[in-house]
Amino acid sequence: MTTPYSLLILPGDGIGPEVMAEVVKVIDWFQANRGMRFDIGHDLVGGAAYDKHGTPLADETMARAQQADAVLLGAVGGPKYDDLDFSVKPERGLLRLRKEMDLFANLRPAQCFEALADFSSLKREVVAGLDILILRELTSGVYFGEPRGIHDDNNNPENEGGRVGINTQRYTSGEIRRVARSAFELAKRRGNKVCSMEKANVMESGILWREEVQWVHDNEYPEVELSHMYADNGAMQLVRNPQQFDVIVTDNLFGDILSDAAAMLTGSLGMLPSASLGAKMANGRPKALYEPVHGSAPDIAGQGKANPIACILSFAMALRYSFDQGDAAVELERAVERVLADGVRTPDLMGPDGGTPVSTVEMGDRIVAA
Ligand code: ATP
Ligand code: MG
Repeated sequence: MTTPYSLLILPGDGIGPEVMAEVVKVIDWFQANRGMRFDIGHDLVGGAAYDKHGTPLADETMARAQQADAVLLGAVGGPKYDDLDFSVKPERGLLRLRKEMDLFANLRPAQCFEALADFSSLKREVVAGLDILILRELTSGVYFGEPRGIHDDNNNPENEGGRVGINTQRYTSGEIRRVARSAFELAKRRGNKVCSMEKANVMESGILWREEVQWVHDNEYPEVELSHMYADNGAMQLVRNPQQFDVIVTDNLFGDILSDAAAMLTGSLGMLPSASLGAKMANGRPKALYEPVHGSAPDIAGQGKANPIACILSFAMALRYSFDQGDAAVELERAVERVLADGVRTPDLMGPDGGTPVSTVEMGDRIVAA
């Protein structure tokens, strides 16, 4: 008997528990039909954790996350928690997980299912069959660099308003090399092509970024095709001809912007999965957190309207990147594709072409059946 994969499930708030319930059905299917074994733990995060423990992530939950082969998270936050002190806001629970697990590589696939090609902000010809992956560095760069702050600029009479706001873009070679390695590893399992994006024309951190990505390529992954692009041109290319890319690797700030732009290539927020990976653990698996891109969607929570596909596809990513079950991941993605091709639609996917309207639970059932 093989050892089970350990999976910590943190449903969170709002629609989080609703979409997670559908993922659990999918996991049960793989256990019953594909001989996989999961050792599943459930715990609280976000507002749900605050309600019980007075903190958005209990120390004990943090410890369980560090031990797990993978963490699967629903969503955190909601209007009920809007007035809480910053230090205990639901989002802080998620930030603590990312920080303490040191999840430096954020993977956001932009995949366009044929049945939803008309949902894209772009023309069907441009996006049908699109399958690219944006890899964003998540733990460094201008969002974290020191010095930072808002200061008085009193000695400068020419500065109307008298203040200055400072952030620092700072990357070490080590930080760049480790995310570059992730990019090349991912590319080897996909289209064998990496495009690195920065602004080496105007930023020193961009020059270092380009040199270090090239170094990792030349010394460790010469067999993978590597190109470099200025991030502004990258933004343009992403909406002009996204199919030219396979894996895009970029820094924290550019990745934030480019991955949101890429999200709109594929249609609804309810379709987008993500993974955040860290260093390899003793068992060879990376620290890993999987979550849908969308938030807790308080406007539709509790109404059976949430689309569970983003969360289900996040589990497919876990199968691929944490559990070495690439075939099972493809099998799950194909099931989603078939259900969409049959016209099955949660409300967020209802277009002018109609379709069969279903609830969150029915969507989960249809995917399991497929
Ligand atoms: P956060 O700050 O937590 O990211 P947000 O305000 O950016 O939250 P979401 O909670 O993701 O946004 O919701 C944005 C919109 O998208 C809402 O109208 C919501 O109903 C819709 N939405 C988000 N996720 C889904 C989903 N899984 N299915 C259907 N609609 C969704
Ligand atoms: Mg948001």
